[in-house]
Amino acid sequence: MNKIKKGSCPEHTQKNGASTGKDDNSTQKLPSETKTDFSRLLVIDCEADKCDECEKKENYEKLKIKGTGTKEWADSNVNIAYGCSHDCKYCYAKKMAIRFKRETERSWKTMRINKKAVQKGYRKRKGRIMFPSSHDITTEILDECIIVLKKILEAENEVLITTKPNLDCIRRIMNEFKEYKHLIQFRFTITTNMQLFADFWEQGAPSISDRSYAILLAQKRGFKTSISCEPYLSDPMPLYELLGKYCTESFWIGKMNYISRSIPQPFQSIIRNITTKEYILDLYDRMKNLPKIRWKDSIKEIIKGRKKD
Ligand code: SF4
Repeated sequence: MNKIKKGSCPEHTQKNGASTGKDDNSTQKLPSETKTDFSRLLVIDCEADKCDECEKKENYEKLKIKGTGTKEWADSNVNIAYGCSHDCKYCYAKKMAIRFKRETERSWKTMRINKKAVQKGYRKRKGRIMFPSSHDITTEILDECIIVLKKILEAENEVLITTKPNLDCIRRIMNEFKEYKHLIQFRFTITTNMQLFADFWEQGAPSISDRSYAILLAQKRGFKTSISCEPYLSDPMPLYELLGKYCTESFWIGKMNYISRSIPQPFQSIIRNITTKEYILDLYDRMKNLPKIRWKDSIKEIIKGRKKD
C-alpha cells in the first residue's frame, strides 16, 4: 500500500499543528467554498494512501470487540432448518446440537425444515439480520430459503446472507432479489485457497473454485460482497491475494477455537501450528494494513494480549 508522509496527511497535519498550506500560494488563492471542496478531496486521498497515524488509528478501531460470534456481524439471526449436510468437522452449531442432545452425529447430516420458521411472518427488525447462522443454504432447502428471504426483504430488513455458496443457490437468490440489492450483503465462507484442506474439513460443502466463482459473479452483478475466512484452514494471505479484490465490503479472518483430539494427523498438527499465538501475531503484522481486512474476536483477543504484555 502507498503511504504518505505523516504531516502531509490533511487530518494529521492539522492535529499536529503543522503547516496547513499557509505558504502555499495556490491554496491561498482559492475561494473559501473551493478550498473546502479541495480539502475534502485530500481527505479522500488520505483514505487511499494512509499516513502512519491514520493506519494506527484504523488498526486500533479494527481491534475493538463489538460483540462475539454472530453478534459481531448482525443484530439477530434467522434459521429455518435443523442439521446441515455440509457437515464441517469444526462446526460449532453441530457441536452444540449434539451436546444438548438435539442431534446425533448421524442425524446432523440430514437437513430437516422447521416448518414454523418458514410459515411465520417476518416484520421489520432493529438492525441487520443474518441468514442463516446454524445451517447452510443448500439446493435441498433452497425453495424454503427463498420464501423466507422474500418475507424478510419485503419487510425492508437488511440481510447478511452467510453461506458456503452453492452456485445454483446464489444464481437463484440474485435473480429473485435483484430489486433488493441495496438490502443484501453476501458473506461467503471461504476458508482456504487449497482444496485439499477443504476436502478434509468441509467434506460436504461446495468446492473452493465454485465458492470463488460465486463471489466474482455476485460482485459483477452489483451485490455487496464479503468473505469470511473463519476458521482459516491455511495461511489466509494467498486467498486474500486471489479474492480480496472481489470483496466490495470486508474480508474477515478468524481462527479455529476448538480442535478436537480426534482429528487425524497431519491435519491436527497443521491446524494447531497455524493457530498458535506466535503464528497469529505474525499473521496480524503481515495483513493488518491491507484494505478491507477485519479480525474476528478470536484474533482480537490475542492481539490485545500482546499489547498488554
Ligand atoms: S456449513 Fe456451517 S452450519 Fe453447515 S456444517 Fe459447515 S459450519 Fe456447520
